[in-house]
Amino acid sequence: HLTKLPNIGTNIFSIMSALANKHDAINLSQGFPNFKSDPLLKDLVSKAMQNGYNQYAPMPGNLELNKAISRKFERLYGTSYHPETEITITAGATQAIFTIISAFIRQDDEVILFKPAYDCYEPAIELHGGKTIAIQLAAPNYSIDWNAVREKVHSKTKMIIINTPQNPSGTVFTEADMLALQDITKNTNIIVLSDEVYEHIIFDGNKHQSACLYPDLKARSFITASFGKTFHNTGWKMGYCCAAKELMEEFRKVHQFNVFSVNHPMQKGLADYLQEPNHYLELSSFYQEKRDLFLRLIKDSRFQFQAAKGTYFQVLDFSEITQEYDVDFAKRLTIENKVAGIPLSVFNENNKDDKVLRFCFAKTDETLKKAADILNNI
Ligand code: PMP
Ligand code: GLN
Repeated sequence: HLTKLPNIGTNIFSIMSALANKHDAINLSQGFPNFKSDPLLKDLVSKAMQNGYNQYAPMPGNLELNKAISRKFERLYGTSYHPETEITITAGATQAIFTIISAFIRQDDEVILFKPAYDCYEPAIELHGGKTIAIQLAAPNYSIDWNAVREKVHSKTKMIIINTPQNPSGTVFTEADMLALQDITKNTNIIVLSDEVYEHIIFDGNKHQSACLYPDLKARSFITASFGKTFHNTGWKMGYCCAAKELMEEFRKVHQFNVFSVNHPMQKGLADYLQEPNHYLELSSFYQEKRDLFLRLIKDSRFQFQAAKGTYFQVLDFSEITQEYDVDFAKRLTIENKVAGIPLSVFNENNKDDKVLRFCFAKTDETLKKAADILNNI
């Protein structure tokens, strides 16, 4: 009983990126862009450093940044979060997610989430004595049977975690999904953690279904966001979360002691950058072109797919190529063929029936072409 997370090893992103580097493979595994971010944003961060933003930011965030985020919610979603009491700047979405779970999950509390799921939720739940109630979604549509969710909700249900656009499947919630969630949580004390880090990467004219668009949901939800995804600098680890004042007060009780506040010059640089509100508006069409290029290039390969509806990930079914365990296939593809992806079973209770790999298309066209040449010959 010395360890709190006996079943957790090194995460798959570290493993696959290291393997890709070691074998000089094209790395479409861990999700990050391989092109440069806007030089203006870097200039603004450097200026913030030169202009003295080098000491602690206020605990909730640099107020200019909180205000810029508040304006963004008004502009995009027609709803407001108070910059001082309802928005907190965090070290990436990961820290926000961990802190939300830490602030609310006690021994034996149940947390419902949907699998395949991004990997940072479950260890945080386990660490706090909570119990993950996983609802399995099936390829290729990964759609949710809300009656099955309703059956799992009872007095111990403390939280429901959703993620739209969804990593790893590339699916998105519809209005009907959000209304079903709103209905199921009505008259309960359930907190919703709505992980919306890919809010600006949604395709084919679909509209992002933010929890803040639904008043009853908004009142019980934390929304988490990541500047890394939006501004092509995942290494900065900058993000934020929003929630109603009473929820945010509880969040900050933990936040102030696990980090207190986050990187101040970057906050100031981002606040200045967001004065010009158009940077994120073209992101969906930018990534839709990448998705379309990638899928056009591999359309005659032996992989099968449905186009991702959001995120910068595309899942490919390899069942016509091999019946190998997906982890073995992903490693072999990296070592022998020199292209790396993420095996879906790691998001999915290590389900050996999964025959799907996730590939990140946040890459230059040249990289996507080279990767496609390889995938076409598998
Ligand atoms: N949630 C999801 C669904 C993600 O894909 C990621 C990043 N891969 C995060 C949260 C974490 O974001 P950040 O890098 O800002 O911590
Ligand atoms: N979010 C990224 C992904 O899904 C990876 C983040 C990480 O490396 N922990 O690939």
